[in-house]
Amino acid sequence: MENLDRLALHSITTKPWDLEIAVRMYREAGVRGISIWREAYEHRGAEKAKKLVQSVGLHVVSLVRGGFFVHPEPDERRLRIEKNIELIREASVLGAPHIVLVCGAHRNVHIDEARQQVEEGIASIVPYAEKEGVRLAIEPLHPMYAGDRSVINTLSEALDLCDVLRSTYLGVAVDVYHVWWDPALMGQIARAGASSRLFAFHVCDWKTPLDDMLEDRGLMGEGCIDIPRIRAAIDRAGFKGMIEVEIFSRRYWALDQNVWLSKIIEAYRTYV
Ligand code: ZN
Repeated sequence: MENLDRLALHSITTKPWDLEIAVRMYREAGVRGISIWREAYEHRGAEKAKKLVQSVGLHVVSLVRGGFFVHPEPDERRLRIEKNIELIREASVLGAPHIVLVCGAHRNVHIDEARQQVEEGIASIVPYAEKEGVRLAIEPLHPMYAGDRSVINTLSEALDLCDVLRSTYLGVAVDVYHVWWDPALMGQIARAGASSRLFAFHVCDWKTPLDDMLEDRGLMGEGCIDIPRIRAAIDRAGFKGMIEVEIFSRRYWALDQNVWLSKIIEAYRTYV
């Protein structure tokens, strides 16, 4: 049974809770870290959010999320790059060692062109990330999102991008929801570890059927993902960071969030 030393939650997992309540409840429940979603801090500012998290002694794992580089209009692409540069500064204020990148996709941009835009977008922000000492974790998304959220859909593609762009500040976030189906997964996790690019590990589960592509993620143990097998590969690859529970679920957001949090902790102990 897993202890809680490496357990972190994404703030969106308990979306109904304001950050102030969330950090207190996490700490009381024995959670050690938090990945802070922009929506959870932007109304109060990064500085205040950092103080809140520090006040309970939680470890900031990441800022979620930057990216979204793909758009048919060059002006809009430039604005998005500016937004990412702002996020890098905010991550630095929050003390978040990395930002998760959801690379982007657009129905009016063909996929080859979209991949090029992603590469150019990341290349433009890398110098700012290096300057602020904030790493960028490319999160490949399940291919069902290739039309609207990300054209980077496998760990292999994400690592190829890191190889092309070369910065040591670039790496990957492995989220079991997005990559569990990939026959090349085990080898690519080893590749990420060997090249020191394994920055983050996100867990949840894949329900069948899904009621919603985005907001019906399962709790660990209620779906078809072989989490222990992926976890073992992550361990073998040398990853020592926090293990982040990231679940968007209308079903679970409708629960009393204290009940939800205790379910998460039980599932984490049992299935991760
Ligand atoms: Zn994730």
